[in-house]
Amino acid sequence: MIPLTVPHLAGNEWKYVKDCLDTGWISSVGSYVNDFEKRMAEFTGAKYAVACMNGTAALHVCQRIMGVQQDDYAIIPNITFIATANAVSYTGAEPLMMDVDSDTWQMDLNLLEKFFIEETKMMDGKCVAKKNNRRIGCIMPVHVLGNMCNMERLMKLANERNIPVIEDSTESLGSSFKGKQTGTFGQMGCFSFNGNKIISTGGGGMIVTNDEALAKKAKHLTTQAKIHPEEYIHDEIAYNYRLVNILAAVGVAQMEQLPAFLKKKKYISDFYKKYLNGVGDIQFQKVENDIHVNDWLFTIKTSKSKEIFENLKKADIISRPFWMPMNQLQMFQSFWYYNENDKSNAVYHNCLSIPCSTGISDDDLALVVKKIKECF
Ligand SMILES: *Cc1c(COP(=O)(O)O)cnc(C)c1O
Repeated sequence: MIPLTVPHLAGNEWKYVKDCLDTGWISSVGSYVNDFEKRMAEFTGAKYAVACMNGTAALHVCQRIMGVQQDDYAIIPNITFIATANAVSYTGAEPLMMDVDSDTWQMDLNLLEKFFIEETKMMDGKCVAKKNNRRIGCIMPVHVLGNMCNMERLMKLANERNIPVIEDSTESLGSSFKGKQTGTFGQMGCFSFNGNKIISTGGGGMIVTNDEALAKKAKHLTTQAKIHPEEYIHDEIAYNYRLVNILAAVGVAQMEQLPAFLKKKKYISDFYKKYLNGVGDIQFQKVENDIHVNDWLFTIKTSKSKEIFENLKKADIISRPFWMPMNQLQMFQSFWYYNENDKSNAVYHNCLSIPCSTGISDDDLALVVKKIKECF
C-alpha cells in the first residue's frame, strides 16, 4: 500500500517522549511546550507563538480574540477544509464564502475587491454589508496546499477597511511571500500538526502573532483564563485548548527535521512535475510570483481525476479528491457565497491529491506516475 501522506518519525521523537515519561512531565506544562513555541516563533519569524491542542482550536480562539461575534460575517475561501468554516461558526458568526482562482485554487482577490466595492460600505469605522449592515468581522485566507495569494494585496484590502486578518496557515508551514513566512501577515496566524501535515505531533496546533497583547490573550483563553497562580480564580469563560508536553516533545523533534522534510517535499513535487508534465490534460497548481511553496500535498488537476482515483485504488495506492466546496455542504448552503461563475465546483471535481509522504521512495513515485499515465 502507498499512503497519501503519513508522519515521518525518524528523529528524536522517541527520546523526547521517553524523557517526558521518565520525568512525569506528560501534561499541560513542561519544557517541551515552551521549546516548541520558541522554535515555531523562530522559524516563522513571528515574535510570539502559543501552542494549542489542534489547528481548529487555534482558529477558533483567534476568531474570539479578534472580536468576531454573533451575526458577523467572516470571509473564507470556498475551497478549504471544513475546520475553517467551523471555527467561524463556533463564534456565532457566519462564514461568507469567496470563490477561488481556477489556477492557484486560493481565494480570488479580484473577486474579493469587487465584493468590497459592490457589496460593502463603511459605517462608524466598520466595514458592513450594504444589504443588512452586518459587520465583516474578519478575513481568513487559507494557504491552500501551502500555496498563497498575494498577501500584500490582501492586507491592503483588509487594512483599508479596518478588517482583521487571521491566516489559516495550517497547511503552509515553510511557505513564504517575498521571503516572509505564512502566518505573519495578518494579526494572527494558525498552524496545525495533524497527522497529515508537513510536521505532525499526532494532533496539535500553534498560534503565531507579532503582538504581545494578542499572544497573552491567546495563552489566557487556551488555558481556562486563570488569573491567580494558586487559587482557582478565572476572569472569563475560556477553553482548555492546551497542547500537552508529551505532544510538544514530538513537535520539537519534528521541528528539528523540518528543513529536511521541506527538501524532500520539493524533490517529490519536482519528480511529479517532470514525469507528469504534458500527460493528457494534467495541470499543476499555479504559483504566482514572489511565492515560495512548501510543496505539502501534491495535487493534480485533470478531467480524469475520478478514473485516476479508481486506477490508483486498484493498485493499493491512496489518492484523495479535493474538499467539497463549503457552499455545497448542507450546513452552509443557505449562506452567502460570493462568486461570478462558481469556479470552485470545477476545482473540486478535477483536483486529486497523490502520494507524497516524506518517506516515499523513488520506486513508489514511479509506480504512481505509471498508474496515472495508464488513464490517458
Ligand atoms: C488541517 C487543517 C485545519 C485544522 O487543523 P486540525 O489540527 O486538524 O484541527 C484547518 N484548516 C485547514 C485548511 C486544514 O487543512
